[in-house]
Amino acid sequence: MRAYIGLGANLGDAGATVTAAMAALAGLPGTTLAACSALYRSAPVGYLDQPDFVNAVAAIDTELAPHEVLDGLLAIEHEFGRQRSFRNAPRTLDLDLLLYGQVEIHDDRLTVPHPRMHERAFVLVPLAEIAPGLALPGRGLVAALAARLAADDLARLPQ
Ligand code: ADP
Ligand code: MG
Repeated sequence: MRAYIGLGANLGDAGATVTAAMAALAGLPGTTLAACSALYRSAPVGYLDQPDFVNAVAAIDTELAPHEVLDGLLAIEHEFGRQRSFRNAPRTLDLDLLLYGQVEIHDDRLTVPHPRMHERAFVLVPLAEIAPGLALPGRGLVAALAARLAADDLARLPQ
């Protein structure tokens, strides 16, 4: 299945962490990396008194089931030393399962598509770079959704 992963980090060398996490995605069982967006710098949302984030989106092709992908993402977050303190807190690495094909999931551990992705420039703009023609179930095409967001707080970083 083609799935899309949102990556974010804002502690330490966030760009290096996001780049290394992309490589770690390729190391998940039965999984290959299909595409990676550029890195973007974004202002924090929610809790504002923290450093800017570095964000990116990766496409993977995986034989794993959705909850197995989630377990893999949590393991990679752990490997990169994430400390969970409070909601929207600074983090060394945050990995979100944005989309798993066109499958919709709503259970205790997993909501897919990720419930806030359609309103987040730091998700939609990098996603539009690698999958502009992709449909978000019930919401329309990624490129159209990205185009109508104000992306003032988002900057594409030089590669
Ligand atoms: P956020 O990414 O919203 O800042 P966290 O990363 O702290 O919050 O939340 C992690 C928890 O969210 C995980 O333990 C997981 O069970 C749950 N979760 C629900 N849906 C998803 C998803 N699509 N991707 C990643 N985690 C999810
Ligand atoms: Mg998360």
